[in-house]
Amino acid sequence: MQKFVEFVRNIYKTKDFIALHEPVFIGNEKKYLNDCIDSTFVSSIGKYVDRFEREFAEYVGSKYAITTVNGTSALHISLLLADVGNGDEVITQPLTFIATCNAISYCSAKPVFVDVDRDTMGLSPKSLQDFLEANCEIIDGKCINKTTKATIKACVSMHTFGHPCKIDEIKAICDAWQIIFVEDAAESLGSCYKNKHTGTFGKVGAFSFNGNKIITSGGGGAIVTDDEDLAKRAKHLTTTAKVPHSYEYVHDEIGYNYRMPNLNAALLVAQLEQLDKFLQNKRELTEKYAEFFRKYDEIEFVKEPHNATSNYWLQAIILKDLEERNKFLEYTNKNGIMTRPIWKLMNELEMFKDAQYSDLDNAKHLEERVVNIPSGVTL
Ligand SMILES: *Cc1c(COP(=O)(O)O)cnc(C)c1O
Repeated sequence: MQKFVEFVRNIYKTKDFIALHEPVFIGNEKKYLNDCIDSTFVSSIGKYVDRFEREFAEYVGSKYAITTVNGTSALHISLLLADVGNGDEVITQPLTFIATCNAISYCSAKPVFVDVDRDTMGLSPKSLQDFLEANCEIIDGKCINKTTKATIKACVSMHTFGHPCKIDEIKAICDAWQIIFVEDAAESLGSCYKNKHTGTFGKVGAFSFNGNKIITSGGGGAIVTDDEDLAKRAKHLTTTAKVPHSYEYVHDEIGYNYRMPNLNAALLVAQLEQLDKFLQNKRELTEKYAEFFRKYDEIEFVKEPHNATSNYWLQAIILKDLEERNKFLEYTNKNGIMTRPIWKLMNELEMFKDAQYSDLDNAKHLEERVVNIPSGVTL
């Protein structure tokens, strides 16, 4: 462990505290922000919002992108676009950040948890298939949960730390069961599965640009889709459902004030320009870590899954057991190297403890062993 601390200090070339993931602003950030302030268009309308939406859609290979105030709101709207509503159920993975389940709850729907795969740390197609076969039936074109009688409207998979899960298999199962597939791609900007960008496989995908993500707007998110009607609806819902009019205030449903301010978009345009550089830098870091951990048989360094290119947003290792994990966390944090355990399983949190779930052996195994290590872009 002492060797690890020395190794990380050597990479980041500092004796100070080393964070898990700090943003870096080494491009046009100040220039665009100043431009924004000079123009007085700092709030909800402005050219940087439009520009980012255009450039982001192009980057991920999607027809439309709609920016939001954060990734959670992008997920919330994505689920509404998937027609998730009161009393519905949404299948997802228990090993994820709380935002995935919060967004489901905002729709007055309930999460149902199936297991993850060991190699991707994301939703397992086999576990999904097994759950559906054991518990569900299709009635009038809807997937009905036989236990609760509720409709399973959507399935949200998440690409843990940027590693794509087995998206095509999950999508095929969802299609067969009349379930709308939604991707929580909050962590996977820059990650591809079979050469297609994550977030673009389902009907809608959601991204986050929070301060700790691979590029940041301070806070922010985006919804992507290829469907023109859904894109229009996303814009409408995120901008208080105001009917376009040159001076009247007419709103035709209960909408949300979820739009991203131009100021944040200005920062984000500059960040997007540097994304490829950040991705390259992270790959170099991955190689260094992989080389280092090769010497330690009892620690597994997490590499990108088969068929996928990962953005390596957060680097991760898998320790031997809970005890070793705790020792590692204790030692590194005490010595000024920030490390963090993976999330607690969602079904173990108070709010979701009554949720239905299948065997979660892999999720439990990973929950007790996975630790994130410093992953920020090295200057
Ligand atoms: C970051 C993140 C989000 C969105 O978070 P915001 O802070 O609201 O931008 C959603 N899901 C996952 C898995 C995340 O990591």
